[in-house]
Amino acid sequence: MPDLDNRTITEKYTTQEWRNRKFEIDEQTQNILDDYNSETPPVNLYEICEDYGFSVSSLTDENAQELFNLSEFSETHSWRDIEGALFRVDDSEQARIFFKGTSPYTRQRFTVAHELGHFFLSHQQKNEILFRSMLSSSNPNNPWSETEANHFAACILMPREAIKIARLAGLSFLEELELFQVSEQSLRLRKRGLVREL
Ligand SMILES: [Zn+2]
Repeated sequence: MPDLDNRTITEKYTTQEWRNRKFEIDEQTQNILDDYNSETPPVNLYEICEDYGFSVSSLTDENAQELFNLSEFSETHSWRDIEGALFRVDDSEQARIFFKGTSPYTRQRFTVAHELGHFFLSHQQKNEILFRSMLSSSNPNNPWSETEANHFAACILMPREAIKIARLAGLSFLEELELFQVSEQSLRLRKRGLVREL
């Protein structure tokens, strides 16, 4: 579990280390997708969560405030800005994931995938609730972990093999967006990241 570590990703890793780390995270998402036995996009995150016994719920005014009041986040943010949250039940392997139900669908998916990333990458300290807000999209304590979780989200929503197949099949950018159910920005970034490998 990471302790307080205020480094950004570029402070934490050298360029080469971050390249390796990104590859490691990509492999990890690949293993999760293999277990789930489906690489056919759009990846069904809710089924994956169900398999692991994680609950996924939409944030309501009520549960958002309730979660929020438990955290330090409330000192610097308004609960209305919360896009997502990850709550780990004590030391158990159970997680509760929340997303803002009024956000665009593609953003909701990215948020759930991002929170899953925090869980699988063991970013969370005991009894810590992690929040994602569109304003800062950051955990003030461990900014590097936000970048890792975003990369995890991109990899699981846009599996490298599936991106390759879509390219070989000659899909247009719009068709790819439809296929992966992600935002334009996410798809652009993912494809740019994979450019050297494909
Ligand atoms: Zn986060």
